[in-house]
Amino acid sequence: MNGPALAAAAAVRGGERSAREVLDEHLARVEERDGELHAFLNLTAGAAREAAGRVDEAVAAGIDPGPLAGVPVALKDNLCTRGVATTCGSRILEGWLPPYDATVVRRLAAAGALIVGKTNLDEFAMGSSTESSAFGPTRNPVDPSRVPGGSSGGSAAAVAAGFALLALGSDTGGSVRQPAALCGVVGAKPTYGLVSRYGLIAFASSLDQIGPFATTVADAALLLDVVSGHDPADSTSLAGAAPRASEALGRGVEGLAVGLVSELASAEGLDPRSAARTREAADALAGAGAKVEEVSVPAAVYGLSAYYLIAPAEASSNLARYDGVRYGRRVDGADITEMYLRTRSEGFGAEVKRRIMLGTYALSAGYYDAYYGKAQRVRTLIARDFEAAYQRFDALLAPTAPGGAFPLGSKTSDPLLMYANDVCTIPSNLAGHPAVSVPFGTDDAGLPLGVQVLGPALGETVVFQVAAALEAAAPGVSR
Ligand code: GLN
Repeated sequence: MNGPALAAAAAVRGGERSAREVLDEHLARVEERDGELHAFLNLTAGAAREAAGRVDEAVAAGIDPGPLAGVPVALKDNLCTRGVATTCGSRILEGWLPPYDATVVRRLAAAGALIVGKTNLDEFAMGSSTESSAFGPTRNPVDPSRVPGGSSGGSAAAVAAGFALLALGSDTGGSVRQPAALCGVVGAKPTYGLVSRYGLIAFASSLDQIGPFATTVADAALLLDVVSGHDPADSTSLAGAAPRASEALGRGVEGLAVGLVSELASAEGLDPRSAARTREAADALAGAGAKVEEVSVPAAVYGLSAYYLIAPAEASSNLARYDGVRYGRRVDGADITEMYLRTRSEGFGAEVKRRIMLGTYALSAGYYDAYYGKAQRVRTLIARDFEAAYQRFDALLAPTAPGGAFPLGSKTSDPLLMYANDVCTIPSNLAGHPAVSVPFGTDDAGLPLGVQVLGPALGETVVFQVAAALEAAAPGVSR
């Protein structure tokens, strides 16, 4: 199986290309185009050049630098990088320097990757367009008048624009898969607990997972395989051997049973073109030898409502720590209460405040059972309905987003319209299951669309196997 990251790593390991040369080629593209796109909040070119030097020295000394030797990787700016600004797209973390590296950052470095910079995101990863970043939006490389999706819009744009071969993002309700779809690249959310969250700044801890971006399924699998696996520093990290995403790529789908999720394939607000592409994807898999049928996952329709109670509830608790005492920005006041008030009023943007209020309300005495408690019960039903479907099917299929990339500013005044972007991605987060978005054709404006392959917990091997078959069958994107 192939991909430019696999090819670059092979060339660097084999001594055919230097890591420095691969890096410089990508940095030149950043130089050329990131002024317009704003995928990066902070470029770490100096450190990347030093890392490239170490990789080249290792190769010269006959030492294998690892599976990502010389591969430029971009990191969402909610992943902690020791001594390097990590802002979460928020004013409240301005000036804060993490005292440690996230586990994924350590694993990337150990695999020979070159970290080129920290990418833009919706503030605290809350959003679907990267427009709620306190530092200004990112633009979609395919059409700069449009959003790249979000919240990991900077990472998606960095890969789509050729600034990095790979990127990491975080996916709480779709924030890797939706921007991947809108930028025409591959993006995956792994099984909850497969990738360590140590050093990922928390949004909604029971849903957050770090996931890979790449231009091909095989490259995404390569990156996932490097960062996944048990980490004692994360209490929710799964024990035991991690499934290998790259194990079954190229095996095709002959004999596999794939279900098209009826409720998601006909979700409210879905662009007819997105629905049509999902059906074409189902037909393509059937043509490749899979047994494809429609399947109902009835509780999936309640995913959006349950998520917008559970995620804000967890966020309201997680974000209580930004108090002007422990991290980043402080705005002084006459007493401590006024200091808290001013710090949080000035440090957080409108969307973050909205989530904190929603979450605090959902958790308040008298409302807890009716909102948070009920949402948790719905979450259980969704997981059960998926488990029932996986008794009959190896993998499921659904659209990634309701439509293609939308114009900047077109959804910022209506939070519900923005939230509706996540209708097809959220169910996998609530269930804790893996899903991969694969580019599959375009909408009527010629913008990329994505189709998701969903699988059961720890089903990464089959999910990536089906995703690779879908990629091979996808119509080209001509624009
Ligand atoms: N768009 C969703 C939200 O705003 C998902 C965000 C995410 O996955 N980080 O909450």
